Amino acid sequence: MNFIETRGNDGVKPKEVTFSQAIENPSASFGGLYIPKFLPQIDKKFIDECMDLSYKELTLKIIKLFDIDIDDDILKNAVDLYDNFDNKQDPVPLKKINNILFINELYHGPTRAFKDMALQPFGDILSTLAKKENNNYLILAATSGDTGPATLNSFANKDNIKVVCIYPEGGTSDVQKLQMVTQKGKNLKVVGIRGNFDDAQTALKALLNSNKFKNKLNNLHIKLSAANSVNFGRIIFQIVYHINAYIKLLKQNEINYADEIYIAVPSGNFGDALGAYYAKKMGIKIRKILIVSNSNNILNDFINTGIYDIRERKLIKTISPAMDILISSNVERLIYDKFGAKRCKELMSNLKEKGYYKLDSNELEILQKDFRGYYCDDAQTKHYISEYSFMNNYLLDPHTATCIKAYDDIKCAKRKTVICSTAQWTKFAPAVLDAISCGNKTKINDIDALENVAKIMNIEIPKSISNLFIKPILHKTVIDNDQSQLENEIFKFLEE
Ligand SMILES: *Cc1c(COP(=O)(O)O)cnc(C)c1O
Repeated sequence: MNFIETRGNDGVKPKEVTFSQAIENPSASFGGLYIPKFLPQIDKKFIDECMDLSYKELTLKIIKLFDIDIDDDILKNAVDLYDNFDNKQDPVPLKKINNILFINELYHGPTRAFKDMALQPFGDILSTLAKKENNNYLILAATSGDTGPATLNSFANKDNIKVVCIYPEGGTSDVQKLQMVTQKGKNLKVVGIRGNFDDAQTALKALLNSNKFKNKLNNLHIKLSAANSVNFGRIIFQIVYHINAYIKLLKQNEINYADEIYIAVPSGNFGDALGAYYAKKMGIKIRKILIVSNSNNILNDFINTGIYDIRERKLIKTISPAMDILISSNVERLIYDKFGAKRCKELMSNLKEKGYYKLDSNELEILQKDFRGYYCDDAQTKHYISEYSFMNNYLLDPHTATCIKAYDDIKCAKRKTVICSTAQWTKFAPAVLDAISCGNKTKINDIDALENVAKIMNIEIPKSISNLFIKPILHKTVIDNDQSQLENEIFKFLEE
């Protein structure tokens, strides 16, 4: 299958590209994104055939439906990376909380966030392609915490790829920072910036738009690619775990074929949610996808009013930082899917030029057939973490916990509900401790918080987390928020 563009074609780029072209060079005409020409369909026969498959086999079977230009052995090697998750037999456990509530634990990979689900196999595929084609790529990532560790871990020591990861010094949790600065790999460079996440992101964007920078890369025969979820190479792996949850519910006799479920997603860039939407469109019986925001509730507003408006908004720092976002990139793929390329281009240029766009009432109705929006502020999030730790003996991370707001709203419908759990509590231990100790532990570092929570809940800190605190620090570069300093650091690294 080939891939087409969300904002139509500009007459310069090819009208259609292959999967490998779409992942190597993810920016499409007019600043748009690549999407598959159509979504393959899953029927009862297909589901029946999946009932006894492992997660890896299911992934391969679903990807096969997309008929992409990647050899079977490359795909197989990529999904073998799920063997490094906590439980090889069951890399993505579905935990039953009560008769209707289930938690799809997507965080059992090496960096304890759901980013591993897609970045592990994606990194492997991109590097294999680059090597085969004798191309060299630079991946630049600005991170507020979870994308950085997952990207570095995925590409560590991979051929033909170099990664530079920029994080705000002091703007991530201790665990997230340690995951980055202790990550081994000759092809990796981690740079702290004295500033916040916006500063890191702005510095990066300026570089990506600089012709001087691109020319210098050209001279070194290095191409740029991207590893965030604008890359379809990540989205394809994010469809699978939603389908897997549905099949598990069938296997465990929780539902019958054709029963509809709810899926709730703590949303940031809308990649996880888009995966659920695609699963629904492919034929999985999902009544509605419940999109949950934190106090940066732009997605909730959009789904409830049809208005996407960033004009009066300032980014609010919350205890669920991976959802602190105003421009949610993958909404564009949804808009394209619902309303076509012409309308998508129009709305996206409105957002860029005027800071907002508005769906008409007809379009809003169409959107609301598939989605419901919610938002959950920090106080309520802490309340849910505390409630579930004491009532259900289950520790929610602050991102996952926001979804309880959606569950509370729809639980009287008695429909099975799957919440996507996007991180392990260990990545956000100070906020979790604060929640379960009734809010009297505000300023505490990660290691003390980890130990306190483990003691209160009578659980162990996973080795992959406690080891971080004794590993040597390998990346010590911290610079001012200054584009030319950043550029210097990047070329010093590339020319080594
Ligand atoms: C990235 C992330 C999210 C947001 O996921 P999107 O696909 O960008 O919507 C939510 N929670 C955690 C812990 C994350 O790391």
